[in-house]
Amino acid sequence: MSYQHHYTDGTPIHFPLGKVVCVGRNYAEHAKELNNEVPSEPLLFIKPGSCTVPLEEAFSIPHDRGEVHYEAEIAVLIGKPLSTKPNDEELLDAISGFAPALDLTLREVQARLKEKGHPWEIAKSFDGACVLAPFVPRDSIEDLGDIGIRLSLNGERRQDGNSRDMLTPILPLIRYIAGHFSLLPGDVVLTGTPAGVGPLQVGDRLDLELVGVAQFTTRVI
Ligand code: ZN
Repeated sequence: MSYQHHYTDGTPIHFPLGKVVCVGRNYAEHAKELNNEVPSEPLLFIKPGSCTVPLEEAFSIPHDRGEVHYEAEIAVLIGKPLSTKPNDEELLDAISGFAPALDLTLREVQARLKEKGHPWEIAKSFDGACVLAPFVPRDSIEDLGDIGIRLSLNGERRQDGNSRDMLTPILPLIRYIAGHFSLLPGDVVLTGTPAGVGPLQVGDRLDLELVGVAQFTTRVI
């Protein structure tokens, strides 16, 4: 299944699919549920664009490497180049849209790598590891400090977070990233997952929502 950025109304977004920059432990309650310390600065990792699949279609998960966890996250689409400490105005201007996304994680593989102090790539960057919904335009969100993200699994609410609870909020997070490496049009930032992560099974139905803005249903096949 090939992925291309587009808006919820079907309009294609003509940016190439770039990298997906992710942040670990950006909600204190989630750090706690995995027995992780709350980091003193953002903990970044990158998924290659090649692992992205569209959320509107059913998606598949690896079946031979232990548990695959869902992590519902607010995704931000970058629409202009950003580097070296952009100010708030430049940051806002560079955001093209928001979407709910799944940062799929091979949790057992990740735990083994973490134990050894090794990078997490193979737990986070397998094909299909980033499940991305269509974007709503930036202007559909009034307050970046109040974006709700919810996930229900087979009809049962599992994650119910809000950007107000992020340890590093959206603009400071993107500024931090751009201070370390360039973001380009078509790149995506995943802003971390709230508490409530858990394993997926084939046949699961997921409802994923940017509260009051966009809602999607998908399935694991
Ligand atoms: Zn995540």
